Amino acid sequence: MNSAKLLDGKTLAQKIQTQLKAQVEQLTSANQRPPGLAVIMVGDNPASAAYVRNKERACANVGIASFGRHFPAHTSQVELEETIHALNEDERVDGILLQLPLPNHLNSVTLLHQIHPDKDVDGLHPVNLGRLMRGEAGLRSCTPAGVMRLLQEYQIDVTGKQAVVIGRSILVGKPMAMMLLEADATVTIAHSRSQNLPDITRNADILIPAVGHPNLITPDMVKPKAVVIDVAINRITDAEGNSRLVGDVEFDTVRDIAEYITPVPGGVGPMTVAILLENTVLSYTRTHSK
Ligand code: NAP
Repeated sequence: MNSAKLLDGKTLAQKIQTQLKAQVEQLTSANQRPPGLAVIMVGDNPASAAYVRNKERACANVGIASFGRHFPAHTSQVELEETIHALNEDERVDGILLQLPLPNHLNSVTLLHQIHPDKDVDGLHPVNLGRLMRGEAGLRSCTPAGVMRLLQEYQIDVTGKQAVVIGRSILVGKPMAMMLLEADATVTIAHSRSQNLPDITRNADILIPAVGHPNLITPDMVKPKAVVIDVAINRITDAEGNSRLVGDVEFDTVRDIAEYITPVPGGVGPMTVAILLENTVLSYTRTHSK
């Protein structure tokens, strides 16, 4: 039985971090300040807290200074706007990331718009999304950029290929589709209102589910020898009562059909963090070259 090759995001992310560490050491050896990243977190969502801890640990690893601000769940919109404005002005800070989701009383769209586009290391400001749309250089959203880097690392050429992205969020699905298009793939975006999803996915040379439904993608939905990149992160309790992370893909069965597949965890997740660090260093070098 065929077993797909693993797209090992964990190892690639470590390689990127090692390269960034050397770059940061070189940049700061001339007595320059280190690059700085401010992660803003509101409330105590355990998944978000774990992601923020990961990001701050990765920053420390490569020599990026953290200016994280963790606010209680009842923090007001105005207070967060003032914080973002202060971070926009803070010369030690090259990147600002608003950890989503936010508590319901807060408007994340308005807050994301307040982040200066040059410090928008998550690539979610309309200016950076517009640059992506136009194919101009700019800060790109971390998760889809991480997927593109994985494809590049494994020399998987997407030119002319049928790529199917499942999910149309502004965080993942839409920028993912634009990046694939920029790389000359023929792109289909499926979503919750798409009819006959298996018919759509079976055409995919490159299948990228970003939904948040465990086991959504079963082997009958996958074209033989497809590249399957599972963006989703779902926490489930398995038959033995253990809590663990899975994606949208029924991994153990789909790996017999696909040519390449990402594990969850250890696939796209670590790449998101690596690209965040890379965007922060990019933003820093741009500031210093002005
Ligand atoms: P989201 O905003 O909830 O979007 C989910 C998308 O899936 C929506 O576009 C929705 O369609 C679509 N969808 C829902 N049910 C569907 C179905 N049955 N068939 C086809 N499409 C369906 O989520 P997100 O923020 O994009 O995140 C998606 C997943 O990626 C989550 O599991 C999240 O945890 C994970 N994620 C991972 C990383 C990482 O670093 N690996 C980063 C970010 C997110 P509609 O638009 O029609 O509602």
